Amino acid sequence: MNTLVNEIKCPFYHAVGKEVEVFEQVYHNKLPLLLKGPTGTGKSRFVEFMAHSLNRKLITISCHEETSSTDLIGRFIIKGAETIWLDGPLTNAVKNGYILYLDEVAEARPDVIVAIHSLTDHRRELFIDKLGETYKAHEEFMLVASFNPGYQRGFKELKPSTRQRFVAITFNYPEPKVEHDILMQETGVEDVIAKKLVALGNKIRNLTELGLTETVSTRLLVDAGKLIQSGLANRLAVKVAVLEPLSDEKQILEALYDLTDLMI
Ligand code: ADP
Repeated sequence: MNTLVNEIKCPFYHAVGKEVEVFEQVYHNKLPLLLKGPTGTGKSRFVEFMAHSLNRKLITISCHEETSSTDLIGRFIIKGAETIWLDGPLTNAVKNGYILYLDEVAEARPDVIVAIHSLTDHRRELFIDKLGETYKAHEEFMLVASFNPGYQRGFKELKPSTRQRFVAITFNYPEPKVEHDILMQETGVEDVIAKKLVALGNKIRNLTELGLTETVSTRLLVDAGKLIQSGLANRLAVKVAVLEPLSDEKQILEALYDLTDLMI
């Protein structure tokens, strides 16, 4: 059965600034959008929410080092005695006016950036070299990409010339009040538990001397909240959902366990 986009329940998204208004304007002006920020700060949830509220179908591609332009544009496949062309998700989105979300675009192979080039400027067209054809993007097509600017920690960078093709919004860990509301809404935990989780998250974020590659994200706090809500003991939930994913170093983990015992 086909389900219309607007029949699906709207994903919960708590705005942290003017991002909803910015997205709407960027969409109406047919510009590409880049969401910058660490993992687990609500970028994907925001795109899902916006696609729903604009009533557009969303295609999400989680980019990794093997993601190539062929994966996005399409390929010839052999079917019986025939060779047929199969559109990839980018071509599909361009033709049908969907929102295409390239999550962690900097991780993809360089030919992906080349492939989206002509879609990110006034041309808004996709050239498919294997077919020798150029498609003008559908009126409603929108390209959204995310990027984690953690170059100092070994993540891949996005070239300035590529970044400048996008309108960009920065995401970060939300204010305690907002993060508290997100936890309550997402997990149903009691107010006092949400407060403690947020306080612990903020404390660990400020412990820069631990040298963590990535620190506590809202996602990790949400995971802990869910486990607590379903009956796991508070400290055990924090240990497995928040602390263990952060580090493998015994000393660091022990310091974090002690902190948890004090705060949770
Ligand atoms: P990212 O795409 O930045 O890695 P996600 O969008 O997957 O992060 O967010 C991870 C989780 O954190 C979501 O599933 C949601 O539970 C929660 N979350 C983070 N920020 C928000 C927000 N502003 N509103 C609602 N949920 C949020």
